Amino acid sequence: MTDTLVFFSGPDPFDTWRDALVPHLPDTVRIQNSDAVTDPDAVRFALVWMPPEGFFERFPNLELVINLGAGVDRLVARDDLPDVPITRLSDPEMGRMMASFVLFSVLRHARDIPHFEAAQARREWSYRHPRAAGDTKVAVLGLGELGALAATEVARQGFDTHGWATKPHDLPGVRVHCGDHALAPLLAEADIVVCMLPLTPGTRGRLDASAFGAMKRGAAFVNVSRGEVVDEAALVAALRSGHLSGATLDVFETEPLGSEHPLWSLPGVLITPHLASVALPKSAAPQIARNIRAVQTGGTLINQVSRVRGY
Ligand code: NDP
Repeated sequence: MTDTLVFFSGPDPFDTWRDALVPHLPDTVRIQNSDAVTDPDAVRFALVWMPPEGFFERFPNLELVINLGAGVDRLVARDDLPDVPITRLSDPEMGRMMASFVLFSVLRHARDIPHFEAAQARREWSYRHPRAAGDTKVAVLGLGELGALAATEVARQGFDTHGWATKPHDLPGVRVHCGDHALAPLLAEADIVVCMLPLTPGTRGRLDASAFGAMKRGAAFVNVSRGEVVDEAALVAALRSGHLSGATLDVFETEPLGSEHPLWSLPGVLITPHLASVALPKSAAPQIARNIRAVQTGGTLINQVSRVRGY
């Protein structure tokens, strides 16, 4: 009997994902784009990125939902999710891509690049003496699959690297702080704060006016996780007042960021359109196939998401 893996994604091409998956899947699994499913009852697996409302109702025999990405906030917040396990992607290439973007962002602020770009626009030779990496304190908020790798890369460059999570993590070169009470003291000491927290009911709006107020004057802020973790109006105010010296922002409360948004023109702010990291078919395919086989044989799933925690 053949099982079907149904695919749905707005931005990701079906053919590329099918071609990457076929060599890893047993012959008993057929992959179909959602609009080409011939037998909905045969669908046991769904590989999806933000499927439309009502999507899952079509497939009564679903046994596994695979989120085509790392962030599951939009999936776990739905009220039409079937009661089956949910897994996310966590592949090495995706982690490397994110870690390199975070490292770039940290270096951008640590090496005063916004200052030199502004000086260049004025045709001005404006020397600023470089500081040793060890004299710059970097706080990475969130030490998950992507956050831990990014923090480790930052530490490898010699930065005084700190991390924040709910529970302890053992990461080379990273001093880990845990729990709510540890956040404000960490923010108060960091020169660069990097947000890598998932969007959950517990983190929504967590970086608000009081969090930005707790940050050191002149600190820089990087957000590569989800815009809604940040109170954007509070961020704009902190940048406008000069309390924050700059920001590197990949994610926003509303995407695409509207052309009139004040963040576009604030000094020291770099805006990128949500691309710090993406799911890569070739490196993600083996773990997707592994989880499909686990369902077929009663094995253990990897990268499973907790609906209760929301990540
Ligand atoms: P994970 O889900 O693997 O880990 C989340 C981390 O955040 C964990 O360390 C967790 O702590 C910590 N955390 C969660 N809630 C809290 C809280 N209330 N207080 C303190 N710490 C908390 O996330 P990843 O590292 O894989 O990814 C992070 C986010 O990056 C994703 O959720 C996604 O939104 C975003 N992303 C953005 C992309 C982009 O292109 N911009 C691409 C891919 C992902 P603990 O370890 O103790 O459980």
